[in-house]
Amino acid sequence: MNLEIRDSLIAKMGKESVTDDEEVLAEFAQDITENPAGKPDLVVYAKSAENVRSVLTEANRLSVPVTCVMANTNLGGLAVPQKGGIILNLTKMNKILEVNEEDLYAIIEPGVTWQDISDYLDQNHPGLRFAYPLSPPDSGIVPNCIMDGLANYSLRTSSASAWINAIEAILPSGETLQTGHMAYGSSTPCTNAPFPALHGLFVGFQGSTGVVTKMSVQLWPKKKYVQRLFILAYDVEHAYGLAKQLAKEDIVDDIGTLSGATGKMLFGEYRPTYQDPNEPILFVYIDFSSNYENDFACKKEIIADLVGQWRAKGAKFDGPLDLEDLVRLEPKFAKFAKFPTRLDFLLDHPGGGLTWVGTYGPTSRFEEGYKKGAEILAKYGLPPVVVCRPMQGSHFGVLRWITVFDRNDEKDVEKVRAVNRDLADMAVELGFFPYKTPQWAWDRYADRINPTFRRLVRDVRKLMDPKGILNPGHLDL
Ligand SMILES: Cc1cc2nc3c(=O)[nH]c(=O)nc-3n(C[C@H](O)[C@H](O)[C@H](O)COP(=O)(O)OP(=O)(O)OC[C@H]3O[C@@H](n4cnc5c(N)ncnc54)[C@H](O)[C@@H]3O)c2cc1C
Repeated sequence: MNLEIRDSLIAKMGKESVTDDEEVLAEFAQDITENPAGKPDLVVYAKSAENVRSVLTEANRLSVPVTCVMANTNLGGLAVPQKGGIILNLTKMNKILEVNEEDLYAIIEPGVTWQDISDYLDQNHPGLRFAYPLSPPDSGIVPNCIMDGLANYSLRTSSASAWINAIEAILPSGETLQTGHMAYGSSTPCTNAPFPALHGLFVGFQGSTGVVTKMSVQLWPKKKYVQRLFILAYDVEHAYGLAKQLAKEDIVDDIGTLSGATGKMLFGEYRPTYQDPNEPILFVYIDFSSNYENDFACKKEIIADLVGQWRAKGAKFDGPLDLEDLVRLEPKFAKFAKFPTRLDFLLDHPGGGLTWVGTYGPTSRFEEGYKKGAEILAKYGLPPVVVCRPMQGSHFGVLRWITVFDRNDEKDVEKVRAVNRDLADMAVELGFFPYKTPQWAWDRYADRINPTFRRLVRDVRKLMDPKGILNPGHLDL
Protein backbone atom coordinates (compact mmCIF):
# COMPACT_ATOMS: atom_id res chain seq x y z
CA MET A 1 0.00 0.00 0.00
CA ASN A 2 1.05 3.53 -0.71
CA LEU A 3 2.79 4.77 2.47
CA GLU A 4 1.88 8.34 1.54
CA ILE A 5 -1.64 7.88 2.87
CA ARG A 6 -0.48 6.40 6.16
CA ASP A 7 1.91 9.29 6.77
CA SER A 8 -0.57 11.91 5.70
CA LEU A 9 -3.27 10.47 8.01
CA ILE A 10 -0.81 10.30 10.91
CA ALA A 11 0.00 13.96 10.28
CA LYS A 12 -3.71 14.90 10.27
CA MET A 13 -5.06 12.60 13.00
CA GLY A 14 -2.13 11.71 15.22
CA LYS A 15 -0.11 8.52 15.56
CA GLU A 16 -2.48 6.95 18.07
CA SER A 17 -5.31 6.91 15.46
CA VAL A 18 -3.48 5.13 12.64
CA THR A 19 -1.88 1.71 12.78
CA ASP A 20 -0.49 -0.96 10.51
CA ASP A 21 0.40 -3.25 13.40
CA GLU A 22 0.05 -6.84 12.12
CA GLU A 23 -1.97 -8.01 15.12
CA VAL A 24 -4.48 -5.21 14.73
CA LEU A 25 -4.70 -5.79 10.97
CA ALA A 26 -5.38 -9.50 11.62
CA GLU A 27 -8.25 -8.59 13.95
CA PHE A 28 -10.06 -6.81 11.11
CA ALA A 29 -9.21 -9.27 8.33
CA GLN A 30 -12.34 -11.38 8.93
CA ASP A 31 -15.45 -11.77 11.03
CA ILE A 32 -16.84 -14.80 12.86
CA THR A 33 -18.65 -16.18 9.80
CA GLU A 34 -17.56 -18.48 6.96
CA ASN A 35 -17.25 -15.51 4.57
CA PRO A 36 -13.79 -15.10 3.03
CA ALA A 37 -11.15 -13.07 4.86
CA GLY A 38 -9.59 -9.90 3.43
CA LYS A 39 -6.28 -8.19 4.01
CA PRO A 40 -6.41 -4.65 5.38
CA ASP A 41 -3.32 -2.46 5.11
CA LEU A 42 -4.18 0.15 7.69
CA VAL A 43 -6.62 0.62 10.55
CA VAL A 44 -7.71 4.18 11.26
CA TYR A 45 -9.76 5.17 14.30
CA ALA A 46 -11.94 8.19 13.59
CA LYS A 47 -12.87 10.42 16.51
CA SER A 48 -14.91 12.97 14.57
CA ALA A 49 -16.63 13.72 11.28
CA GLU A 50 -13.55 15.78 10.36
CA ASN A 51 -11.41 12.65 10.80
CA VAL A 52 -13.81 10.73 8.54
CA ARG A 53 -13.51 13.49 5.94
CA SER A 54 -9.70 13.38 6.10
CA VAL A 55 -9.69 9.61 5.55
CA LEU A 56 -12.19 9.72 2.68
CA THR A 57 -10.62 12.63 0.80
CA GLU A 58 -7.11 11.19 1.08
CA ALA A 59 -8.29 7.71 0.13
CA ASN A 60 -10.26 9.13 -2.79
CA ARG A 61 -7.30 11.15 -4.00
CA LEU A 62 -5.05 8.09 -3.94
CA SER A 63 -7.76 5.54 -4.92
CA VAL A 64 -7.34 3.49 -1.74
CA PRO A 65 -10.28 1.26 -0.65
CA VAL A 66 -12.02 2.14 2.62
CA THR A 67 -14.20 -0.27 4.59
CA CYS A 68 -15.93 1.13 7.65
CA VAL A 69 -16.53 -1.00 10.68
CA MET A 70 -18.17 -0.67 14.04
CA ALA A 71 -18.39 -3.94 16.02
CA ASN A 72 -18.10 -6.21 12.93
CA THR A 73 -21.00 -8.42 14.07
CA ASN A 74 -23.20 -8.16 10.94
CA LEU A 75 -22.74 -11.92 10.27
CA GLY A 76 -22.40 -11.44 6.52
CA GLY A 77 -18.70 -10.56 6.16
CA LEU A 78 -19.87 -7.06 5.21
CA ALA A 79 -17.12 -5.18 7.01
CA VAL A 80 -14.35 -7.47 5.75
CA PRO A 81 -12.03 -5.47 3.46
CA GLN A 82 -12.24 -7.62 0.34
CA LYS A 83 -9.86 -5.36 -1.62
CA GLY A 84 -7.55 -4.40 1.25
CA GLY A 85 -6.88 -0.75 2.01
CA ILE A 86 -8.12 1.13 5.05
CA ILE A 87 -10.37 -0.12 7.83
CA LEU A 88 -12.16 2.98 9.06
CA ASN A 89 -13.04 2.12 12.65
CA LEU A 90 -15.94 4.18 14.01
CA THR A 91 -16.11 2.83 17.58
CA LYS A 92 -14.67 6.02 19.07
CA MET A 93 -17.39 8.21 17.58
CA ASN A 94 -19.78 7.15 20.31
CA LYS A 95 -21.51 10.26 21.56
CA ILE A 96 -25.24 10.52 22.14
CA LEU A 97 -25.53 14.12 21.05
CA GLU A 98 -29.12 14.80 22.04
CA VAL A 99 -32.26 13.15 23.31
CA ASN A 100 -35.49 15.02 22.70
CA GLU A 101 -38.16 13.66 25.02
CA GLU A 102 -41.03 15.59 23.56
CA ASP A 103 -40.28 14.97 19.90
CA LEU A 104 -39.15 11.41 20.61
CA TYR A 105 -35.76 11.11 18.96
CA ALA A 106 -32.06 10.81 19.72
CA ILE A 107 -29.18 12.13 17.66
CA ILE A 108 -26.32 9.69 17.79
CA GLU A 109 -22.88 9.13 16.32
CA PRO A 110 -22.12 5.91 14.43
CA GLY A 111 -20.24 4.27 17.32
CA VAL A 112 -23.15 4.41 19.76
CA THR A 113 -24.04 0.90 20.92
CA TRP A 114 -27.29 -0.68 22.11
CA GLN A 115 -25.87 -0.79 25.63
CA ASP A 116 -24.92 2.91 25.44
CA ILE A 117 -28.44 4.02 24.54
CA SER A 118 -30.07 1.65 27.02
CA ASP A 119 -27.89 2.93 29.90
CA TYR A 120 -28.30 6.54 28.83
CA LEU A 121 -32.09 6.35 28.63
CA ASP A 122 -32.35 4.46 31.94
CA GLN A 123 -30.27 7.12 33.67
CA ASN A 124 -31.50 10.28 31.98
CA HIS A 125 -34.83 9.62 30.29
CA PRO A 126 -36.54 6.76 32.11
CA GLY A 127 -39.81 7.57 30.34
CA LEU A 128 -38.38 6.59 26.94
CA ARG A 129 -37.61 3.26 25.34
CA PHE A 130 -35.66 2.10 22.30
CA ALA A 131 -35.88 -1.15 20.31
CA TYR A 132 -33.25 -3.82 21.01
CA PRO A 133 -32.13 -6.70 18.81
CA LEU A 134 -30.47 -9.91 20.01
CA SER A 135 -27.18 -8.45 18.77
CA PRO A 136 -24.24 -8.19 21.15
CA PRO A 137 -24.78 -5.13 23.40
CA ASP A 138 -21.57 -3.52 22.12
CA SER A 139 -22.64 -3.54 18.47
CA GLY A 140 -23.91 -0.50 16.63
CA ILE A 141 -27.29 1.15 16.17
CA VAL A 142 -26.35 3.16 13.07
CA PRO A 143 -25.07 0.08 11.18
CA ASN A 144 -28.23 -1.80 12.06
CA CYS A 145 -30.45 1.05 10.84
CA ILE A 146 -28.65 1.31 7.51
CA MET A 147 -28.59 -2.48 7.14
CA ASP A 148 -32.31 -2.65 7.91
CA GLY A 149 -32.01 -5.05 10.85
CA LEU A 150 -34.74 -5.89 13.31
CA ALA A 151 -35.37 -5.62 17.00
CA ASN A 152 -37.89 -6.22 19.74
CA TYR A 153 -40.19 -3.42 18.64
CA SER A 154 -40.16 -4.32 14.95
CA LEU A 155 -43.64 -5.79 15.21
CA ARG A 156 -44.85 -2.22 15.73
CA THR A 157 -42.10 -0.21 14.06
CA SER A 158 -40.87 -2.38 11.15
CA SER A 159 -37.22 -2.96 10.26
CA ALA A 160 -34.62 -0.56 11.55
CA SER A 161 -34.39 1.79 8.56
CA ALA A 162 -37.94 2.92 9.46
CA TRP A 163 -36.57 4.51 12.63
CA ILE A 164 -34.33 6.94 10.71
CA ASN A 165 -35.50 10.57 10.75
CA ALA A 166 -32.43 12.19 9.23
CA ILE A 167 -28.75 11.58 8.68
CA GLU A 168 -25.51 13.33 8.06
CA ALA A 169 -22.97 11.51 5.93
CA ILE A 170 -19.59 12.25 4.42
CA LEU A 171 -19.05 11.33 0.78
CA PRO A 172 -15.74 10.28 -0.79
CA SER A 173 -15.55 13.78 -2.34
CA GLY A 174 -15.38 15.17 1.20
CA GLU A 175 -18.83 16.76 0.89
CA THR A 176 -21.30 16.52 3.75
CA LEU A 177 -24.80 15.35 2.88
CA GLN A 178 -27.63 16.07 5.29
CA THR A 179 -31.09 14.60 4.80
CA GLY A 180 -34.58 15.09 6.22
CA HIS A 181 -34.92 18.02 8.58
CA MET A 182 -31.15 18.14 9.04
CA ALA A 183 -30.99 19.36 5.43
CA TYR A 184 -32.08 22.91 6.29
CA GLY A 185 -30.47 23.05 9.70
CA SER A 186 -33.57 22.42 11.80
CA SER A 187 -32.77 22.21 15.51
CA THR A 188 -35.37 19.43 15.81
CA PRO A 189 -34.74 16.88 13.00
CA CYS A 190 -37.69 14.68 13.94
CA THR A 191 -38.70 13.38 10.49
CA ASN A 192 -37.74 12.97 6.86
CA ALA A 193 -41.14 14.10 5.55
CA PRO A 194 -41.66 15.85 3.15
CA PHE A 195 -38.17 15.53 1.68
CA PRO A 196 -37.13 12.98 -0.93
CA ALA A 197 -35.89 10.03 1.13
CA LEU A 198 -32.21 10.54 0.41
CA HIS A 199 -31.24 8.67 3.58
CA GLY A 200 -32.27 5.70 1.42
CA LEU A 201 -28.99 6.23 -0.46
CA PHE A 202 -27.36 4.64 2.60
CA VAL A 203 -29.98 2.02 3.51
CA GLY A 204 -29.04 -1.42 2.22
CA PHE A 205 -25.94 -0.02 0.49
CA GLN A 206 -23.60 -1.72 2.96
CA GLY A 207 -21.31 1.25 3.49
CA SER A 208 -20.64 1.69 -0.22
CA THR A 209 -22.07 5.18 -0.75
CA GLY A 210 -20.71 7.29 2.13
CA VAL A 211 -20.00 7.18 5.84
CA VAL A 212 -22.86 8.10 8.16
CA THR A 213 -21.51 10.38 10.87
CA LYS A 214 -24.75 11.37 12.60
CA MET A 215 -28.27 10.00 12.72
CA SER A 216 -31.56 11.12 14.22
CA VAL A 217 -33.43 7.96 15.28
CA GLN A 218 -36.87 7.53 16.74
CA LEU A 219 -37.50 6.75 20.39
CA TRP A 220 -40.79 5.72 21.95
CA PRO A 221 -42.55 6.35 25.28
CA LYS A 222 -42.05 3.63 27.84
CA LYS A 223 -45.20 2.07 29.24
CA LYS A 224 -45.97 1.77 32.93
CA TYR A 225 -46.95 -1.90 32.93
CA VAL A 226 -44.75 -4.24 30.93
CA GLN A 227 -44.66 -8.02 30.80
CA ARG A 228 -42.92 -10.79 28.87
CA LEU A 229 -44.66 -14.15 28.63
CA PHE A 230 -43.36 -17.47 27.37
CA ILE A 231 -45.44 -20.24 25.85
CA LEU A 232 -43.91 -23.64 25.20
CA ALA A 233 -45.32 -25.11 21.99
CA TYR A 234 -45.13 -28.68 20.74
CA ASP A 235 -46.26 -28.15 17.17
CA VAL A 236 -45.00 -25.73 14.53
CA GLU A 237 -48.39 -24.90 12.93
CA HIS A 238 -49.99 -24.05 16.24
CA ALA A 239 -47.06 -22.00 17.49
CA TYR A 240 -46.79 -19.89 14.33
CA GLY A 241 -50.59 -19.70 14.04
CA LEU A 242 -50.84 -18.22 17.52
CA ALA A 243 -47.90 -15.86 16.92
CA LYS A 244 -49.40 -14.52 13.69
CA GLN A 245 -52.85 -14.13 15.17
CA LEU A 246 -51.48 -12.20 18.15
CA ALA A 247 -49.47 -10.01 15.78
CA LYS A 248 -52.59 -9.09 13.81
CA GLU A 249 -54.71 -8.45 16.92
CA ASP A 250 -52.46 -5.42 17.52
CA ILE A 251 -52.32 -5.89 21.28
CA VAL A 252 -48.71 -6.97 21.76
CA ASP A 253 -45.43 -5.10 21.28
CA ASP A 254 -43.31 -8.01 20.17
CA ILE A 255 -43.77 -11.64 19.49
CA GLY A 256 -41.23 -14.16 18.40
CA THR A 257 -40.42 -17.81 18.36
CA LEU A 258 -37.19 -19.59 19.17
CA SER A 259 -36.81 -23.25 18.35
CA GLY A 260 -36.32 -25.82 21.10
CA ALA A 261 -32.74 -26.42 19.91
CA THR A 262 -31.97 -22.79 20.78
CA GLY A 263 -33.16 -23.54 24.31
CA LYS A 264 -30.86 -26.55 24.53
CA MET A 265 -27.93 -24.40 23.42
CA LEU A 266 -28.80 -21.92 26.14
CA PHE A 267 -28.29 -24.85 28.51
CA GLY A 268 -24.83 -25.51 27.16
CA GLU A 269 -25.22 -28.03 24.34
CA TYR A 270 -23.10 -27.35 21.24
CA ARG A 271 -25.21 -28.72 18.37
CA PRO A 272 -28.25 -30.51 19.82
CA THR A 273 -29.84 -32.55 17.04
CA TYR A 274 -32.22 -34.86 18.93
CA GLN A 275 -35.87 -33.95 19.57
CA ASP A 276 -37.58 -35.65 22.47
CA PRO A 277 -41.37 -35.62 21.82
CA ASN A 278 -41.86 -34.40 25.39
CA GLU A 279 -39.80 -31.29 24.72
CA PRO A 280 -41.23 -28.14 23.21
CA ILE A 281 -40.43 -27.55 19.53
CA LEU A 282 -40.76 -23.80 19.87
CA PHE A 283 -40.70 -21.17 22.60
CA VAL A 284 -43.10 -18.35 21.82
CA TYR A 285 -42.35 -15.12 23.67
CA ILE A 286 -44.75 -12.24 23.90
CA ASP A 287 -44.15 -8.69 25.13
CA PHE A 288 -47.10 -6.52 25.93
CA SER A 289 -47.57 -3.28 27.83
CA SER A 290 -49.92 -0.47 28.73
CA ASN A 291 -50.08 2.68 30.78
CA TYR A 292 -53.42 1.61 32.22
CA GLU A 293 -53.88 -1.22 34.67
CA ASN A 294 -57.27 -2.25 33.28
CA ASP A 295 -56.05 -2.18 29.68
CA PHE A 296 -53.00 -4.21 30.67
CA ALA A 297 -55.14 -6.79 32.51
CA CYS A 298 -57.47 -6.93 29.51
CA LYS A 299 -54.58 -7.60 27.10
CA LYS A 300 -53.35 -10.38 29.36
CA GLU A 301 -56.80 -11.89 29.42
CA ILE A 302 -57.12 -11.74 25.63
CA ILE A 303 -53.75 -13.48 25.25
CA ALA A 304 -54.86 -16.23 27.66
CA ASP A 305 -58.20 -16.51 25.81
CA LEU A 306 -56.52 -16.88 22.43
CA VAL A 307 -54.17 -19.51 23.81
CA GLY A 308 -57.25 -21.31 25.14
CA GLN A 309 -58.94 -21.14 21.71
CA TRP A 310 -55.87 -22.70 20.09
CA ARG A 311 -55.83 -25.39 22.76
CA ALA A 312 -59.46 -26.15 21.96
CA LYS A 313 -58.36 -26.64 18.34
CA GLY A 314 -55.83 -29.25 19.50
CA ALA A 315 -52.73 -27.17 20.21
CA LYS A 316 -50.43 -28.42 22.94
CA PHE A 317 -49.07 -25.40 24.80
CA ASP A 318 -47.56 -24.92 28.25
CA GLY A 319 -48.17 -21.47 29.64
CA PRO A 320 -48.39 -18.56 29.22
CA LEU A 321 -45.62 -18.41 31.81
CA ASP A 322 -44.45 -15.11 33.19
CA LEU A 323 -40.76 -14.75 32.34
CA GLU A 324 -40.02 -13.86 35.96
CA ASP A 325 -41.48 -17.22 37.09
CA LEU A 326 -39.49 -19.00 34.41
CA VAL A 327 -36.30 -17.31 35.60
CA ARG A 328 -37.08 -18.36 39.18
CA LEU A 329 -37.40 -21.96 37.97
CA GLU A 330 -34.35 -21.75 35.73
CA PRO A 331 -32.01 -18.75 36.16
CA LYS A 332 -30.50 -19.27 32.68
CA PHE A 333 -33.67 -17.79 31.17
CA ALA A 334 -32.50 -14.46 32.62
CA LYS A 335 -30.63 -14.09 29.28
CA PHE A 336 -34.02 -13.20 27.82
CA ALA A 337 -35.21 -10.99 30.69
CA LYS A 338 -33.72 -7.67 29.66
CA PHE A 339 -32.40 -6.47 26.31
CA PRO A 340 -29.79 -5.77 25.08
CA THR A 341 -28.40 -9.17 25.96
CA ARG A 342 -25.32 -11.12 24.98
CA LEU A 343 -26.21 -14.56 23.66
CA ASP A 344 -22.93 -16.04 24.82
CA PHE A 345 -24.05 -19.58 24.03
CA LEU A 346 -23.84 -18.59 20.34
CA LEU A 347 -20.57 -16.70 20.68
CA ASP A 348 -18.39 -18.31 23.35
CA HIS A 349 -17.90 -21.86 22.17
CA PRO A 350 -14.55 -23.46 21.30
CA GLY A 351 -15.10 -23.37 17.49
CA GLY A 352 -15.85 -19.64 17.61
CA GLY A 353 -17.86 -19.56 14.35
CA LEU A 354 -21.38 -18.25 13.97
CA THR A 355 -23.37 -17.80 10.80
CA TRP A 356 -26.94 -17.51 9.65
CA VAL A 357 -29.25 -17.25 6.75
CA GLY A 358 -31.49 -14.46 7.97
CA THR A 359 -34.34 -13.66 5.60
CA TYR A 360 -37.35 -11.38 5.28
CA GLY A 361 -40.51 -12.55 3.60
CA PRO A 362 -44.19 -13.43 3.95
CA THR A 363 -45.42 -14.66 7.34
CA SER A 364 -47.80 -16.99 5.44
CA ARG A 365 -44.76 -19.18 4.65
CA PHE A 366 -43.28 -19.39 8.16
CA GLU A 367 -44.44 -22.96 8.75
CA GLU A 368 -43.14 -24.23 5.42
CA GLY A 369 -39.86 -22.37 5.90
CA TYR A 370 -39.34 -23.80 9.35
CA LYS A 371 -40.00 -27.37 8.22
CA LYS A 372 -37.98 -27.24 5.01
CA GLY A 373 -35.12 -25.50 6.82
CA ALA A 374 -35.14 -28.10 9.60
CA GLU A 375 -34.98 -30.87 6.97
CA ILE A 376 -31.99 -29.24 5.28
CA LEU A 377 -30.19 -28.75 8.57
CA ALA A 378 -30.91 -32.35 9.60
CA LYS A 379 -29.44 -33.57 6.29
CA TYR A 380 -26.16 -31.93 7.34
CA GLY A 381 -26.41 -33.24 10.92
CA LEU A 382 -27.18 -29.78 12.28
CA PRO A 383 -29.88 -28.74 14.75
CA PRO A 384 -32.87 -26.59 13.74
CA VAL A 385 -31.83 -23.35 15.41
CA VAL A 386 -34.53 -21.09 14.05
CA VAL A 387 -35.69 -17.62 15.06
CA CYS A 388 -38.86 -16.22 13.59
CA ARG A 389 -40.85 -13.04 14.18
CA PRO A 390 -43.74 -11.30 12.48
CA MET A 391 -42.84 -7.66 11.82
CA GLN A 392 -44.74 -4.45 11.10
CA GLY A 393 -48.08 -5.84 12.21
CA SER A 394 -47.41 -9.09 10.28
CA HIS A 395 -46.95 -7.39 6.88
CA PHE A 396 -43.74 -9.39 6.70
CA GLY A 397 -41.49 -11.29 9.00
CA VAL A 398 -38.06 -12.66 9.71
CA LEU A 399 -37.12 -16.29 9.41
CA ARG A 400 -33.53 -17.12 10.20
CA TRP A 401 -31.54 -20.31 10.59
CA ILE A 402 -28.47 -20.06 12.78
CA THR A 403 -25.45 -22.37 12.83
CA VAL A 404 -22.45 -22.44 15.14
CA PHE A 405 -19.32 -23.98 13.72
CA ASP A 406 -15.61 -24.49 14.14
CA ARG A 407 -13.76 -21.77 12.27
CA ASN A 408 -10.51 -23.73 12.43
CA ASP A 409 -11.92 -26.81 10.78
CA GLU A 410 -11.99 -26.33 7.01
CA LYS A 411 -14.47 -29.21 6.58
CA ASP A 412 -16.88 -27.61 9.01
CA VAL A 413 -16.49 -24.28 7.21
CA GLU A 414 -17.29 -25.92 3.87
CA LYS A 415 -20.28 -27.63 5.45
CA VAL A 416 -21.82 -24.38 6.71
CA ARG A 417 -21.22 -22.79 3.30
CA ALA A 418 -23.14 -25.65 1.69
CA VAL A 419 -25.96 -25.60 4.25
CA ASN A 420 -26.32 -21.83 3.95
CA ARG A 421 -26.57 -22.11 0.17
CA ASP A 422 -29.28 -24.78 0.47
CA LEU A 423 -31.18 -22.78 3.09
CA ALA A 424 -31.01 -19.61 1.03
CA ASP A 425 -32.15 -21.42 -2.16
CA MET A 426 -35.13 -22.84 -0.31
CA ALA A 427 -35.94 -19.44 1.26
CA VAL A 428 -35.71 -17.57 -2.05
CA GLU A 429 -38.08 -20.11 -3.64
CA LEU A 430 -40.52 -19.46 -0.78
CA GLY A 431 -40.39 -15.69 -1.30
CA PHE A 432 -37.84 -14.74 1.37
CA PHE A 433 -34.58 -12.93 0.67
CA PRO A 434 -31.44 -12.84 2.84
CA TYR A 435 -30.97 -9.50 4.63
CA LYS A 436 -27.54 -8.02 5.43
CA THR A 437 -26.90 -9.85 2.22
CA PRO A 438 -23.47 -11.45 1.89
CA GLN A 439 -21.76 -11.26 -1.49
CA TRP A 440 -22.18 -15.00 -2.12
CA ALA A 441 -25.96 -14.50 -2.02
CA TRP A 442 -25.87 -11.54 -4.43
CA ASP A 443 -23.79 -13.67 -6.80
CA ARG A 444 -26.08 -16.67 -6.43
CA TYR A 445 -29.31 -14.80 -7.18
CA ALA A 446 -27.92 -12.22 -9.63
CA ASP A 447 -29.86 -13.70 -12.55
CA ARG A 448 -33.12 -13.42 -10.66
CA ILE A 449 -32.71 -9.76 -9.77
CA ASN A 450 -34.28 -7.28 -12.11
CA PRO A 451 -31.50 -6.03 -14.47
CA THR A 452 -32.65 -2.41 -14.26
CA PHE A 453 -32.55 -2.65 -10.46
CA ARG A 454 -28.98 -3.96 -10.62
CA ARG A 455 -27.89 -1.26 -13.06
CA LEU A 456 -29.41 1.47 -10.92
CA VAL A 457 -27.65 0.19 -7.79
CA ARG A 458 -24.37 0.30 -9.72
CA ASP A 459 -25.19 3.79 -11.06
CA VAL A 460 -26.04 5.13 -7.59
CA ARG A 461 -22.78 3.77 -6.22
CA LYS A 462 -20.88 5.36 -9.09
CA LEU A 463 -22.60 8.68 -8.53
CA MET A 464 -21.83 8.73 -4.82
CA ASP A 465 -18.38 7.11 -5.06
CA PRO A 466 -17.00 7.55 -8.61
CA LYS A 467 -13.69 5.82 -7.90
CA GLY A 468 -15.35 2.88 -6.13
CA ILE A 469 -13.27 3.19 -2.96
CA LEU A 470 -16.05 2.40 -0.47
CA ASN A 471 -16.45 -1.18 0.68
CA PRO A 472 -15.50 -2.70 -2.69
CA GLY A 473 -16.30 -6.39 -3.06
CA HIS A 474 -19.65 -6.05 -1.31
CA LEU A 475 -23.05 -5.33 -2.84
CA ASP A 476 -21.34 -6.15 -6.11
CA LEU A 477 -24.30 -6.39 -8.47
C1 LIG B 1 -25.46 -13.24 18.43
C2 LIG B 1 -25.93 -12.22 17.43
C3 LIG B 1 -27.27 -11.87 17.39
C4 LIG B 1 -27.73 -10.92 16.48
N1 LIG B 1 -29.05 -10.59 16.49
C5 LIG B 1 -29.49 -9.65 15.65
C6 LIG B 1 -30.87 -9.25 15.68
O1 LIG B 1 -31.66 -9.72 16.50
N2 LIG B 1 -31.28 -8.32 14.79
C7 LIG B 1 -30.42 -7.75 13.91
O2 LIG B 1 -30.85 -6.90 13.14
N3 LIG B 1 -29.12 -8.08 13.87
C8 LIG B 1 -28.63 -9.01 14.71
N4 LIG B 1 -27.30 -9.35 14.69
C9 LIG B 1 -26.40 -8.71 13.67
C10 LIG B 1 -25.62 -7.50 14.19
O3 LIG B 1 -25.21 -7.68 15.50
C11 LIG B 1 -26.36 -6.20 14.09
O4 LIG B 1 -26.77 -5.99 12.79
C12 LIG B 1 -25.51 -5.02 14.55
O5 LIG B 1 -26.33 -3.92 14.82
C13 LIG B 1 -24.43 -4.64 13.56
O6 LIG B 1 -23.64 -3.66 14.15
P1 LIG B 1 -22.09 -3.68 14.02
O7 LIG B 1 -21.62 -2.56 14.89
O8 LIG B 1 -21.50 -4.98 14.31
O9 LIG B 1 -21.90 -3.31 12.46
P2 LIG B 1 -20.67 -3.72 11.47
O10 LIG B 1 -20.72 -5.17 11.30
O11 LIG B 1 -19.39 -3.16 12.01
O12 LIG B 1 -21.05 -2.95 10.16
C14 LIG B 1 -22.08 -3.42 9.35
C15 LIG B 1 -22.08 -2.80 7.95
O13 LIG B 1 -22.35 -1.42 8.01
C16 LIG B 1 -21.29 -0.65 7.44
N5 LIG B 1 -21.16 0.52 8.30
C17 LIG B 1 -20.92 0.52 9.64
N6 LIG B 1 -20.97 1.77 10.09
C18 LIG B 1 -21.24 2.59 9.03
C19 LIG B 1 -21.41 3.99 8.87
N7 LIG B 1 -21.34 4.82 9.89
N8 LIG B 1 -21.64 4.48 7.63
C20 LIG B 1 -21.74 3.66 6.56
N9 LIG B 1 -21.60 2.31 6.66
C21 LIG B 1 -21.36 1.79 7.89
C22 LIG B 1 -20.08 -1.58 7.45
O14 LIG B 1 -19.17 -1.27 6.43
C23 LIG B 1 -20.76 -2.92 7.20
O15 LIG B 1 -21.03 -3.05 5.83
C24 LIG B 1 -26.81 -10.31 15.58
C25 LIG B 1 -25.47 -10.66 15.62
C26 LIG B 1 -25.03 -11.60 16.53
C27 LIG B 1 -23.55 -11.93 16.56
